Amino acid sequence: MARKMLIDGELSQPNAEEAHYDFDLFVIGAGSGGVRAARFSANYGAKVGICELPFHPISSEVIGGIGGTCVIRGCVPKKILVYAATYGGELEDARNFGWELNEKIDFNWKKLLHKKTEEIVRLNGIYKRLLANAGVKTFEGEGKVVGPNEVEVTQLDGTKLSFTAKHILIATGSRAHRPSIPGQELAITSDEALSLEELPKHAVIVGGGYIAVEFASIWKGMGLNVDLCFRKELPLRGFDDEMRAVVARNLEGRGINLHPRTCLTQLIKTENGIKAITDQGEELTTDVVLFATGRAPNTKRLNLEAVGVELDETGAVKVDEYSRTSIPSIWAVGDVTNRMNLTPVALMEATCFAKTVFGGQPTKPDYKDVPVAVFSIPPLSVVGLSEEQAVDEANGDISVFTSTFNPMKNTISGRQEKTVMKLVVEAETDKVIGASMCGPDAPEIIQGIAVAVKCGATKQQFDSTVGIHPSAAEEFVTMRSVTRRIAAGSKPKTNNP
Ligand code: NDP
Repeated sequence: MARKMLIDGELSQPNAEEAHYDFDLFVIGAGSGGVRAARFSANYGAKVGICELPFHPISSEVIGGIGGTCVIRGCVPKKILVYAATYGGELEDARNFGWELNEKIDFNWKKLLHKKTEEIVRLNGIYKRLLANAGVKTFEGEGKVVGPNEVEVTQLDGTKLSFTAKHILIATGSRAHRPSIPGQELAITSDEALSLEELPKHAVIVGGGYIAVEFASIWKGMGLNVDLCFRKELPLRGFDDEMRAVVARNLEGRGINLHPRTCLTQLIKTENGIKAITDQGEELTTDVVLFATGRAPNTKRLNLEAVGVELDETGAVKVDEYSRTSIPSIWAVGDVTNRMNLTPVALMEATCFAKTVFGGQPTKPDYKDVPVAVFSIPPLSVVGLSEEQAVDEANGDISVFTSTFNPMKNTISGRQEKTVMKLVVEAETDKVIGASMCGPDAPEIIQGIAVAVKCGATKQQFDSTVGIHPSAAEEFVTMRSVTRRIAAGSKPKTNNP
């Protein structure tokens, strides 16, 4: 039924009959997805309201802030810390390029924290202006759904505002999940890690996903002693196994202590810091324990189930392919739907929502060939299928091409760290169905490769592309000989099962 309404165009431009609503669209949550949906819907002519909690730039007590997780306590501040941490290694590498770094070089965390906060405040202001310039009315406060067409916003002073809206969009994102072990309250999450008042000397990180690996690199780059504890044999479950092993080798090569197949069982406060006890019988005494153990959708205080919006077993809002919930006037985009939890994907979902509901063009988000990057140092970036996924999903045999090489910069700096690239090709069609790289600038390089993969480029087209010399990226167009061929239906033969 919902789909038929969409395709009939019934949900396009607002008309005079609908004027009895306060808004054509009310958005709860002004993060990446919410702001994009609000602005684009307003650009289609909709009358839009949005609500979000105010934020304190340093304290992470209030989860909120226009700009959302990505801008306030996610991608942006994280990348600033990655830049900062990268300088440490670069300064070391500079010596063999003739730079005399005789004076003691100090890292000033407080200065970085201050500059980072200034930038976040600046971006928060830009996002506010973007909304205002699009004609979106912003309310500071916590939103909840009261009915299929009604929302309530509780402002910080406790005053409640009620609005009616033809459509409601839930874009409340997610928050860090904490494992329930004794002493868990002694640990922090990435929210606090981005704004610690003092830089610790020793950190124990729990988890093997994006945040764990990124913070391990950040803190090691800033000079901390870092222990990384993860449940599997390798970090980054879901990525190509061979590339996971490359990341693990690089983390270890940079001096991070890896603890595979390890969980924490208890945290105890001692006079020397926090004692972290592992299920392998180790005791790690540390200044900080970071839980980077996934994120849960922010749906608890929205009153969704009471108005009939279905949630799944993780608490995520269930939506159809157009981001519509089980209540036809209520929609949801971004992490709160737990589809593919990435900022650019939330932006895509929000764009499709605005086009569908107010642009008269029903549009489904396209989750195929979404490139991703893990900002470890050096970074990992991938697009399309891993070797393991290709064996499971592709038609027929698979050809795998790999290149492992010493980046030119390392030949002079002396850094012992190989760059690894990989192409996965469907043998029968010659299409490149997966590309990965772990090495400097991998995200910048894979973004371009992603266009080729999305367009269905063949390996022959990669080979006929002239390389840029000297660059690391040129390896992607010069991988002449196949590393291995995997027959349809067989297990992949990576070096690191
Ligand atoms: P991830 O889902 O990437 O990883 C969670 C990790 O925690 C996994 O290694 C998981 O292990 C482990 N884990 C889960 N529960 C426990 C537990 N009870 N004890 C021990 N380990 C546990 O989550 P993150 O928190 O790293 O990141 C959250 C989301 O944010 C990601 O899904 C990602 O989409 C997004 N993000 C994206 C970034 C980017 O694009 N660069 C950067 C940062 C975050 P196992 O594998 O064994 O299940």
